Amino acid sequence: MKIVETIAEVREQVKQWKKEGLTVALVPTMGYLHEGHRSLMERARKENDRVVVSVFVNPTQFGPNEDLASYPRDLEHDAALCDSVGVDLIFHPAPEEMYPKGFCSFVDMDVLTKELCGLSRPVHFRGVCTVVSKLFHIVTPDRAYFGEKDAQQLAVIKRMVLDLNLDIEIVGCPIVREADGLAKSSRNTYLSPEERKAALVLSRSIFAGKKLAESGETDAHKLVQAMTDIISAEPLARIDYVKVVDLLTMQQIDKLDRPFLAAIAVYIGKTRLIDNFMVQAGGAGA
Ligand code: AMP
Repeated sequence: MKIVETIAEVREQVKQWKKEGLTVALVPTMGYLHEGHRSLMERARKENDRVVVSVFVNPTQFGPNEDLASYPRDLEHDAALCDSVGVDLIFHPAPEEMYPKGFCSFVDMDVLTKELCGLSRPVHFRGVCTVVSKLFHIVTPDRAYFGEKDAQQLAVIKRMVLDLNLDIEIVGCPIVREADGLAKSSRNTYLSPEERKAALVLSRSIFAGKKLAESGETDAHKLVQAMTDIISAEPLARIDYVKVVDLLTMQQIDKLDRPFLAAIAVYIGKTRLIDNFMVQAGGAGA
């Protein structure tokens, strides 16, 4: 496995692979890798000849008061995990490699990015679309792998690929959870032991919401209320949002009569965590 820091080195390697007729996968990450990331890499490993993992804490997707400086980093650990999965190349650029002096072009999106996380993180998806576009142009993968953990991001990337006619297959992978239900996240490391216990309220509300939807509930507002009640009972939790949206457009819906996403963002102390569940086909009870 190679670790490279420049765009030129990635291009050179990928060019060689393509000459040999090999398929290339990309798994974009911000590093501090865990089992959630591993599941994406394993799927990519199975479905492609070569796997590239990018490890880059992308400054443009963080707002001014967010955790860019404190975001956890550990390249040695990341490299060991990638190596154990059989990753071929890690791309670990410095911020200046991706955003040289004078950089001023961005990829922006309407509609889907104006809901959910886009409301509390106004520059976030512009940063995500920009960096993912750049990575797509640098790596030119056949397939790219994203987690359903970041369901809005997955919907946004799928829309971007469609709108900009990118010839890349986007593969969504299920949420990987801790044994007690908490969705794995690099940000879980911020939680104190007491907050870690309190954070279980997220998955509890997700599991209860899913059960309610599966039992045949058709009123989106009742679903939101039931999930909100569970989170509100935890004193360390502060709700950013609890919403049910159309799976394709990310716009709020009243009835569970189409594929939908139930998504939550909750502060546990100072740490903002997200979780969700999706119902793909036929709406509730399907
Ligand atoms: P991040 O490093 O947080 O930007 O995540 C990189 C990719 O891993 C994204 O596509 C995430 O959705 C995905 N991911 C992060 N956590 C999980 C998880 N618990 N289960 C599945 N995918 C995940």
